[in-house]
Amino acid sequence: MRPVNVEAIGEELAIKWDDGGETYIRLETLRRHCPCATCQGEGDIMGNIQKGPSKPLSPRSFQLRQIATVGGYALQPIWEDGHSSGIYSFEYIRKIAQSAGPS
Ligand SMILES: [Zn+2]
Repeated sequence: MRPVNVEAIGEELAIKWDDGGETYIRLETLRRHCPCATCQGEGDIMGNIQKGPSKPLSPRSFQLRQIATVGGYALQPIWEDGHSSGIYSFEYIRKIAQSAGPS
């Protein structure tokens, strides 16, 4: 399954899939689920999750500057605060959108 159209509409990201389905997800929800190591913490050799000093999120953190498709399996948003290391697989995005429920 691939997106045929990805578009930020207001405070939501609208994704149209090639099976005809659509996913709407709030940009804030998307950012708060950023899967990158900085946001999620990296496990050390003991398996403990070390959360780095998390940068406080600002209103700009939830504004999308740009979004790119990566390798045909994921989306990489570039946020207005400059954060861009989160790679969201299509499945992951659908999962977040479902667990967040309709907005
Ligand atoms: Zn991140």
